[in-house]
Amino acid sequence: MGFRFVSIKHAFGLAVGSETTLRGWVRSRRDSKGITFIELNDGSRFKSMQLVVDAGAVPDETLKQVTTGSSIAASGILVESPAKGQAVELKVAAIQIYGGADPATYPLQKKGHSLEFLREISHLRVRSNTFGAAFRVRNALTHAIHTFFQERDFIYVQTPIITTSDCEGAGQMFGVTTLNLQQPPRTPDGKVDWQQDFFGRPAYLTVSGQLEGEIFALAFSKVYTFGPTFRAENSNTPRHLAEFWMIEPEMAFYELADDMQLAEEFLKYTIRYVLDHCREDLEFFNQFIEKSVLATLEHVAESQFGHITYTDAIQELKKSGRSWEFPVEWGSDLQTEHERFLSEEVFKKPVIVTDYPKDIKAFYMRVNDDGKTVRAMDVLVPRVGEIIGGSQREERHDVLRQRLRDAGLDEKPYWWYLDLRRYGSVPHAGFGLGLERMMMYLTGLKNIRDVIPFPRTPGNADF
Ligand code: ATP
Ligand code: MN
Repeated sequence: MGFRFVSIKHAFGLAVGSETTLRGWVRSRRDSKGITFIELNDGSRFKSMQLVVDAGAVPDETLKQVTTGSSIAASGILVESPAKGQAVELKVAAIQIYGGADPATYPLQKKGHSLEFLREISHLRVRSNTFGAAFRVRNALTHAIHTFFQERDFIYVQTPIITTSDCEGAGQMFGVTTLNLQQPPRTPDGKVDWQQDFFGRPAYLTVSGQLEGEIFALAFSKVYTFGPTFRAENSNTPRHLAEFWMIEPEMAFYELADDMQLAEEFLKYTIRYVLDHCREDLEFFNQFIEKSVLATLEHVAESQFGHITYTDAIQELKKSGRSWEFPVEWGSDLQTEHERFLSEEVFKKPVIVTDYPKDIKAFYMRVNDDGKTVRAMDVLVPRVGEIIGGSQREERHDVLRQRLRDAGLDEKPYWWYLDLRRYGSVPHAGFGLGLERMMMYLTGLKNIRDVIPFPRTPGNADF
């Protein structure tokens, strides 16, 4: 008995004549002239294996239970396939049923479903073409990200998820408490007595690991974080999640130019990796989701990113003659419509915008000599807008203290952050990439809810 169990991905690489057992979920079943054709998928690759069951090869009782969505093991011999698009198929000698799936109620039918409908059945959507492809790409992307940094001697640091420091107010924070919300303990003047809470003061889910990342950068030189991030942004947009994954490299001795160069190399490397390792999945997205995905990614992997200062970008937006939903004035933040215009129309490729007004950026960004702008950089890409936000950090103790004061922030909780500027301070810089924004760029999927396994958005935390 030579039936060796292999994944379907592996089976496609085996020689004709190999005896194998495949296990997976039935995508479809078709009967024709006494022969049954079954598409079996186990998630190991996009393509399903075609199983061919000749009349009488397996008992009717068994074959009856092979329906779309059922789980089976099929043993047989790999033979050359007459069908186009596949070298081999499995000529079945035996089938074992694991679990049936009633065709009358199984929600995933062969006909296409809308992405909105599939979102409501997140426990099953992963068995569809679109989500199979999306999460294989996501896996390859995370691997590429670690490989990129590890090959360049970056140290991976796990920054805390529960925090008591509000990183710049990057977004609204979720509170973490064990107090009884019906009847919280009160101080004599009637306020909530946080001293009685678990951490003895208010605590939150992190909006960024950057500040702690800086601690590590000032000891290990080059570090990165890669973890979940939480923002209670009560805005329902196709590009914001309440829980998302962020990659934040932080480098000592890097200035803004080094930071930008790293961001560009990083994006190109990860794009190249996914192009090389997920061809089949990307081809699916290119055909069914966004016709420009492959061409764009190939182009970006080879081209130089554009560069423009915020001040010049404002000029470009003004002279475009467009009527913007959000007004364009020096001093106001760029909105998605502006970001997309710059990358899609002006540069037609990713573009890095630098030197934003200091009043619209975080307190820790290094102030330029003009006293009005900071060494910030945002990478904008077509279709998505902002994908990376970064900056050179303010390393001067006195300037940083002043910035905290100007931002109306209390110095005290930042005592350790300020200490980094008192003991062995160096120029340093870093950036944050939103994993899901990158996923949108890679797949062409237009709603961020479709590139994370279980999206959390206002009013929704199912599954
Ligand atoms: P935006 O202006 O798009 O809301 P931001 O300026 O608030 O983003 P940063 O604080 O610079 O974002 O965060 C760094 C990166 O994290 C962003 O470039 C983006 O890729 C990603 N990101 C930020 N907020 C979210 C979110 N709510 N959901 C998903 N990704 C996000
Ligand atoms: Mn930003």
